[in-house]
Amino acid sequence: MSEQRQEAGSSAPRRVVVAGAGMAGVQTAVALREQGFTGSVQLIGAEPHQPYDRPPLSKAVLLGKSEGSAFDVDFEALGIELRLGCEVTGLRPGDHELDTEDGPVPYDVLVVATGAEPVRLPGAEGVPGVHLLRTLDDAERLRPVLARRHDIVVVGAGWIGAEFATAAREAGCAVTVVEAAERPLAGALPAEVAAPMAGWYADAGAALRTHARVERVEPGAVLLDDGTRLPAGAVVVGIGARPATAWLAGSGTELGAHGEIVADEHLRTSVPDVYAVGDCASFPSGGTASACWCTTGTTPSRGRGPSP
Ligand SMILES: Cc1cc2nc3c(=O)[nH]c(=O)nc-3n(C[C@H](O)[C@H](O)[C@H](O)COP(=O)(O)OP(=O)(O)OC[C@H]3O[C@@H](n4cnc5c(N)ncnc54)[C@H](O)[C@@H]3O)c2cc1C
Repeated sequence: MSEQRQEAGSSAPRRVVVAGAGMAGVQTAVALREQGFTGSVQLIGAEPHQPYDRPPLSKAVLLGKSEGSAFDVDFEALGIELRLGCEVTGLRPGDHELDTEDGPVPYDVLVVATGAEPVRLPGAEGVPGVHLLRTLDDAERLRPVLARRHDIVVVGAGWIGAEFATAAREAGCAVTVVEAAERPLAGALPAEVAAPMAGWYADAGAALRTHARVERVEPGAVLLDDGTRLPAGAVVVGIGARPATAWLAGSGTELGAHGEIVADEHLRTSVPDVYAVGDCASFPSGGTASACWCTTGTTPSRGRGPSP
């Protein structure tokens, strides 16, 4: 962590700021303490909730079997300062400062862990009954939708689509999944690996329509480009995610083609004293990049690589 500063001949960093309070940010902050770092550690997150794990959102939390999925971490005891509900809006490396909604925050070392945000379906934003599933708030909004046992159309047969469809079927909803590609997970996995996954939908009792492109979403219906009109009490869009890095614009941080932060094998970014971890970063790992951000057809999806 202190390599860059020490190389420059200055003392070890005393203030580490972690931007993003998801899995990667929390693990980073905890690991610093576990490895004996005694300087200040500040964890800044845009969401107002106690930091939580996302995988249960599409499973137990969605089905109401669990109220939340907060990490079991005593931040106070670890001496980690949490700033929640605070969006980071910019980085000024020359000043060693972050800009946030609450004003500037100085750092000696910055770790960027702002993760990813879901890709929106063009034209569907603001249409009543259209949902995403990335955050705890999203899952809480979807719970009553499941309870009402609507006819639900899921756009995208990726991981989120598969998990949501399974949960919605379990809750007794009629589910149709529309996928622009010829098969589920086309952007993420080779055909032979993904082939059995088409069976998930049949097993769950969800209708899967491949080669199905959404033309338009309107209140109560999804229209496909072949003229099919699917009734939809609710629509869940799961067409991939993109690194949440727009706030780094103008900072000089090198980004890849999909906005991912380009880091080296030590997770160092192109900017001195700035590191990147988690879904927002791409770094070399065993000869490949850890996160391959790719797009196939209209269903962009993130290749799942090893976590840092
Ligand atoms: C519903 C769901 C189910 C999943 N299930 C699985 C699974 O079963 N297995 C699996 O391997 N993976 C799963 N994943 C993926 C997994 O959750 C992610 O890989 C993981 O959350 C990545 O962690 P992260 O900390 O890098 O990013 P994130 O979890 O995205 O956390 C980033 C945090 O940074 C915050 N942030 C973003 N921008 C800013 C800003 N400008 N200022 C301040 N804060 C900001 C965000 O609010 C967020 O809390 C699932 C994801 C979802 C959404």
